[in-house]
Amino acid sequence: MAQPVYGRIDGPIVLIGYGSIGKGTLPLIERHFDYDPTQLSVIDPNDATAPLLAEQGITHHQIALTEGNYREILGGLFPDGCGFCVNLSVDTSSLDLMKLCRQLGVLYIDTVVEPWAGFYFETTDNAQRTNYALRQRVRDEKAANPGGVTAVSCCGANPGMVSWFVKEGLMILSRDLGRDDPVPADRAGWARLMQNLGVKGVHIAERDTQARAKPRPRDVFVNTWSVEGFIAEGFQPAELGWGTHETWFPENGNRHDTGCQAGIWLDRPGAITRVHTWCPTPGPQFGFLVTHNEAISISDYYTVGDPAAPDFRPTCHYAYHPCDDAVLSLHEMFGAGRQQQSHEILEPDEIMTGSDELGVLLYGHAKNALWFGSRLSNEEAKTLAPHQNATGLQVTSAVLAGMVWALENPQAGIVETDEMDHVRCLEVQRPYLGPVEAHYTDWTPLQDRWEHFPEDIDDSDPWQFRNVLAT
Ligand code: NAD
Repeated sequence: MAQPVYGRIDGPIVLIGYGSIGKGTLPLIERHFDYDPTQLSVIDPNDATAPLLAEQGITHHQIALTEGNYREILGGLFPDGCGFCVNLSVDTSSLDLMKLCRQLGVLYIDTVVEPWAGFYFETTDNAQRTNYALRQRVRDEKAANPGGVTAVSCCGANPGMVSWFVKEGLMILSRDLGRDDPVPADRAGWARLMQNLGVKGVHIAERDTQARAKPRPRDVFVNTWSVEGFIAEGFQPAELGWGTHETWFPENGNRHDTGCQAGIWLDRPGAITRVHTWCPTPGPQFGFLVTHNEAISISDYYTVGDPAAPDFRPTCHYAYHPCDDAVLSLHEMFGAGRQQQSHEILEPDEIMTGSDELGVLLYGHAKNALWFGSRLSNEEAKTLAPHQNATGLQVTSAVLAGMVWALENPQAGIVETDEMDHVRCLEVQRPYLGPVEAHYTDWTPLQDRWEHFPEDIDDSDPWQFRNVLAT
């Protein structure tokens, strides 16, 4: 099949991080952009990545970026005021790197607002360890320095693609409610549309069923993407965008004193905080309320009125059922109170079965709830692109879409995926997503309850977070 080439990248392309996502992104860059291959290089301190890069003839800078060396290293690699920096690493400050790239005249993209090494576990103030705080610093930088060279913040699957799914899901809902609203032209228009459609909130509802034949060995954390990244975010406080329909407030909930005011955090790690949610394959299921940037960005983007006292804001949070081996790994890790000695990421060729079902559940409206998302199997992912499982391809194809958008909009300043053209981005990404489907459900969080153990729930509105949060 002929693969579209979306444009030319002039100057150096530097990939920071060659882990599961870096390995999967590189072949998509090679396939879909015109560039000078001698100008492409990878920064990654890991020995294990060296042979694969050498085999492909790609320059490898085997070094960890730190607060002390990033200016010198990136300044040296981007001498001419052009190029693209693709940050797919852990333990590097997204904010510092994006600021530097913009100063250097270099396009920038990442998939998470990552801090420098040590931040997640050495910071003692939980409010500071939230994604709200990490994101707010990027938003403050955007406000202080609007416009300029494009830097795309948080453009993976989630955060990232799911923000495009919210927009497409809203248009589907508008059609199916017989309203046929025009596509909104700006942020305020999108927020009003969500409000007018009666949406109360959004779950980023994911079920990963990928599995290999080998049972998970004890004392090994197994996942389908970065174990280090998942442990770090799993130990952050649970966090969610806090909607205007909520009448109850969690006992361990905390608001923020400054910033956009769109989110709250719970005094409990996200990876042991369960919520009731729904995906097409399992139907009702538990997900973990793992903190994610999009929980805050979506609630912020769809706010109507004064952010401090809004007329409308949706509740939004991640509801993540990772692969079964990761659920067991979390159970073991939190039970033991220490991290496992070794980490494994499921390779595409060892996975025997399963898919990553990742979508947005728009709830609370006249049709109850709509799940819209990608149901990509590992089998299909392997036919579409090398070096990645289904989870990886949902992320890397979003990076590809974000890079195309940045090339086409090189002076857009710092942007989040909510602020990008979702139609163009999904046009680029969709060939890699397997079935992208809309499913309505009559499920609500009041339904999957055990009558033997009555719970303190609110029957008057099924979509109160009080009912979603599992006790
Ligand atoms: P990984 O753990 O497989 O790889 C991370 C790589 O970064 C490793 O190869 C490591 O050696 C390298 N690295 C570590 N410290 C570095 C430093 N100081 N300088 C340069 N490189 C360094 O992780 P992954 O699964 O490839 O994920 C990469 C990033 O993407 C993570 O931040 C993760 O949270 C993020 N991610 C985002 C999404 C999304 O949908 N938005 C999904 C998956 C992963």
